[in-house]
Amino acid sequence: MTAVLTLDSVTRTYPARAGGPATRALDDVSFAVHEGRSVGIVGESGAGKSTLLRLLLALDHPTSGQVTYRGRPLAGADRALRRQFRRDVQIVFQDPRSSLDPRMRVGKIVAEPLRSLGVPGDRGARVAQVLEWVGLEPDVVGRYPAQFSGGQRQRIAIARALAPAPSVLVADEPVSALDVSVRGQVIELLRGLRATLGLTVVMVSHDLGVVAQVCDETLVLRDGRVVEAGPTAQLLAAPTDDYTRRLLAAVPRLPG
Ligand code: ADP
Ligand code: MG
Repeated sequence: MTAVLTLDSVTRTYPARAGGPATRALDDVSFAVHEGRSVGIVGESGAGKSTLLRLLLALDHPTSGQVTYRGRPLAGADRALRRQFRRDVQIVFQDPRSSLDPRMRVGKIVAEPLRSLGVPGDRGARVAQVLEWVGLEPDVVGRYPAQFSGGQRQRIAIARALAPAPSVLVADEPVSALDVSVRGQVIELLRGLRATLGLTVVMVSHDLGVVAQVCDETLVLRDGRVVEAGPTAQLLAAPTDDYTRRLLAAVPRLPG
């Protein structure tokens, strides 16, 4: 199995703020994301999930340890590797209200990564294709984000992420900002896309129920440490840690 992304003994410490202590947001975390697999990262607020995502996306660097992409360290990566990474690993943010530029038409929003990454080919055709994949009509390209519901906006954000044909989709709480009534549809969309496109998925959520519906593997973070990791089904059936049990108890309903 090819490891697409790994964290090897990663620690990330934030310096002390005004008299407070330093924060060890991640403490000796190791795991691998394998090609075609989906990994969920769960934990309560403050557990270190966003810090971990930022490190995986090379938006931040570990205090110690290393992050690798396809076997090579991201720190000090050469131009060619950084370029490949920027195209191959795409992100869907939590809130499409803030992640989509309200002044841009949908067509331009979805084409944006094609433009900025210099992806060759017919952009209009590609935009139409990814919009279809997320269940939107081709004529949405002329409209603005405000003309859509929260669920549709998240579909637009997913289409944008898929436009440059990434192999890895990273999602940060992709349904938390959405109405409960549409969460299931967006989760279903992610599941379907994952299967049909063979995507590798890394999803962060405070909700173990959401992760359970999309991810084969789950990693439980608590205070910056991995308390439990393994196949999601196994973790749900027999959580070994009290903390995981509490996260499970907080899940309103589990998928059947
Ligand atoms: P989560 O996403 O699981 O809620 P975070 O990764 O945002 O967790 O935060 C983990 C810990 O690191 C928290 O204690 C948080 O207060 C702290 N933290 C996060 N970002 C910073 C920062 N830029 N400076 C200082 N402390 C931070
Ligand atoms: Mg967070």
